[in-house]
Amino acid sequence: MTATPTTARGKQPIPNDAELMFIKTVATGTVHIAVRYSPYDLARQPSVGPVISGGAAFVALSVSPTVTRCGKRTYPQSGRDHLKTGRFADEQLCRACYRTLTEVDQERAFEHDRPEGDPS
Ligand SMILES: [Zn+2]
Repeated sequence: MTATPTTARGKQPIPNDAELMFIKTVATGTVHIAVRYSPYDLARQPSVGPVISGGAAFVALSVSPTVTRCGKRTYPQSGRDHLKTGRFADEQLCRACYRTLTEVDQERAFEHDRPEGDPS
């Protein structure tokens, strides 16, 4: 198993139809960013290799980790150590994840709800 290399240079913009996911590490409160690509985008990516037809690929997808932009492997679907979230303070955003985003996508990263009582 090799970790997905984080590409500091050659930033790739996130496709418009891809979904930005915020995943909170429960232990630290840090909110990481992951991108869920649409099946259409996945099929277009040359690096993925030959597309496996049939149901096996979908089964593999459902148990595979969600890799955040900073290279962390999370399992938000298990709902224990990592949680999908949509409401957090800007300061909780993982800097390493944030730095991988293009300028336009960085704006998308701030399109989230803030906790109640947050003055900003
Ligand atoms: Zn991160």
